Amino acid sequence: MRSVLLTAAAISALLAACSPTTAPAEQASKAEIGSFGIDTAAIDASVKPGDDFYTYVNGKWLADFAIPADKARYGVFDELSDRAETNLRTIVDELAASSPASGTNEQKVADLFASWMDEAALETRGVSPLKPKLDQISAIASRSDLMKLTGDIFLTFPISAGVETDPSDTSRYAVWIGQDGLGMPNRDYYLKSGERFDQYRAAYTAYLTRIFEVIGNPDPAAAAKQVLTLERKIAEIHWAPERQRNVKEAVNQMSLAELKTLAPSVNWESMLADLGLPGTERVVVQETSAIADGGKLMQSEPLDSWKNYLAFHYVNDNASYLTKAVDDANFEFYSRTLRGVETQRDRWKRGVGLLDRLMGEALGQIYVARHFPADHKAKMDELVANLRTGLETRLQTLEWMDDATRQEALKKLSTFEPRVGYPNKWRDYSALSIEAGKLFENVAAARRFEWNRNVSRINSPVDREEWGMNPQTVNAYYNPLMNQITFPAAILQPPFFDPAADPAVNYGAIGAVIGHEIGHGFDDQGREFDETGKIRNWWSEQTNANFLASTDRLAALFDSYCPLADGCVNGRLTMGENIGDLGGLQMAYEAYRLSLKGAEAPVIDGFTGDQRFFMAWAQAWKAKQREDALRNQLLTDPHSPAMVRGAAPLRNIDAWYEAFGVQEGDKMYLPPDQRVRIW
Ligand SMILES: [Zn+2]
Repeated sequence: MRSVLLTAAAISALLAACSPTTAPAEQASKAEIGSFGIDTAAIDASVKPGDDFYTYVNGKWLADFAIPADKARYGVFDELSDRAETNLRTIVDELAASSPASGTNEQKVADLFASWMDEAALETRGVSPLKPKLDQISAIASRSDLMKLTGDIFLTFPISAGVETDPSDTSRYAVWIGQDGLGMPNRDYYLKSGERFDQYRAAYTAYLTRIFEVIGNPDPAAAAKQVLTLERKIAEIHWAPERQRNVKEAVNQMSLAELKTLAPSVNWESMLADLGLPGTERVVVQETSAIADGGKLMQSEPLDSWKNYLAFHYVNDNASYLTKAVDDANFEFYSRTLRGVETQRDRWKRGVGLLDRLMGEALGQIYVARHFPADHKAKMDELVANLRTGLETRLQTLEWMDDATRQEALKKLSTFEPRVGYPNKWRDYSALSIEAGKLFENVAAARRFEWNRNVSRINSPVDREEWGMNPQTVNAYYNPLMNQITFPAAILQPPFFDPAADPAVNYGAIGAVIGHEIGHGFDDQGREFDETGKIRNWWSEQTNANFLASTDRLAALFDSYCPLADGCVNGRLTMGENIGDLGGLQMAYEAYRLSLKGAEAPVIDGFTGDQRFFMAWAQAWKAKQREDALRNQLLTDPHSPAMVRGAAPLRNIDAWYEAFGVQEGDKMYLPPDQRVRIW
């Protein structure tokens, strides 16, 4: 049972992730990038901004830059992540050298890292740590034996569970139930036709076979075939990702009795009790038919298929904590085949990544003390306040809203809670034990610790101090159930945020990111939630119809982007992010103009303030991506690819046309009546 993925109604991240009102002449220090915050050396002046704005701003970089061999994608976000990774490595090394006392966070971080780096110990132990669980799987002799394991947090089933805020009363938690259980990224990888998809399936079969060889299955090829056949059936019942986003369909309050009627073959009481949730009486069910049909498959498909399926997923989930042979096989499929990565990352980098996932706030606490200047928080708070004013100003005048809905939107805006840098309250890791030399057990202990933390909240009031990202993560998010926008410290760096840069650049980059997150509160999902985070319809019929008409046009615009011969942007899947980008830019532009107080911004290096604002946005999305990774993103990720995000929203903004003299005949031109205006 893996933890539920709250795709339908939880966190909307920025990516798959100040009011610097002083004029440049008054700046105390110089911008970190270029002379005012933009890398003008990347500009390709041979490209007309109105034809291809993204290449105009980033073209020289795009032409010259080669994606590092160990990366599927590289851009601004990755540059900052690399910087955070190096800083974290220094922290980990210093902790290790300090001989920390047993039981402290410092000891746990140092020993978890040391156990990761000890490759010789991993070879010596081989796959023996898997044995107790594999024996348990192998002893399954009946359907009832199989069903008894559904509450094992280390096993994978077509159903997942977890504890999150209750959308009917956001002061308390609820148990959420969702679909799960595929080894490839989503249903499309099983069901789509085409040469590349045949190759993915062939590579997955080879990987399955390799794993069965490693654990001594007597007929690895046959076992692999069984698992692929079973997963194909799971894929057929899974909801498509755009349907998972539909709050009206994918958030269903049910009593336990209703859940039992939906999927009677699952013993929900015993499963929930094993998961640490005894006495559960109400649940939120996401993909209803997939849960019902998943229960049916557990009864109808051969027991041997299920046993091989459980065994494979157990090994797969632990592949990086075993021998090099297993780790390499996992890399070949998940990184090389599915994302085009050429070489494995340095081991220490993966170790820092592991610490980040399992003990992220222990590192984050030290990271922010060293790398997040105190005055950045105050400057961000000011910028967030200006963005709110930007949206408030726009809300007052949006013509497609009637007054009643407008008042509700303003009420929701007034309860937004911004969080900047790092949490007020750090996670307590005292219940987690970590020992040197025991990587497999350490990872299991950390997963158990996290699971217990998640489920033990069920009877407590909702904790609004919790963060869903680490401070060292280069990303940001909106949580509709809390109406919170969260900006980790690591994204508050150039080119997103630089107190010494030109204000136009800060508004166009981090300002639009703040606006993007606020925009999620009003996107196609976020608008279903009210000012308390509860799902409630606060829309009048006509305003609702107007919103839907605009979003249909936005979907069509993004559908028209096809970065691959066999792959286009899915305008429905990416709707929330695209609304966030468009609304975010509009709010940030409004806030930027307000900050100028009626004056015109100075021209810097030949660029007007408005030009610098839009260039900053396109620069923030500067990135290159490998073809397989791009295909993966188009099929699974609610975010449009970077090269689309950096330009497509601007086609709807009048000020962008004016700033660059974009006219009819230019490739990005849209007639004014076709420009989508939402927030
Ligand atoms: Zn987003």
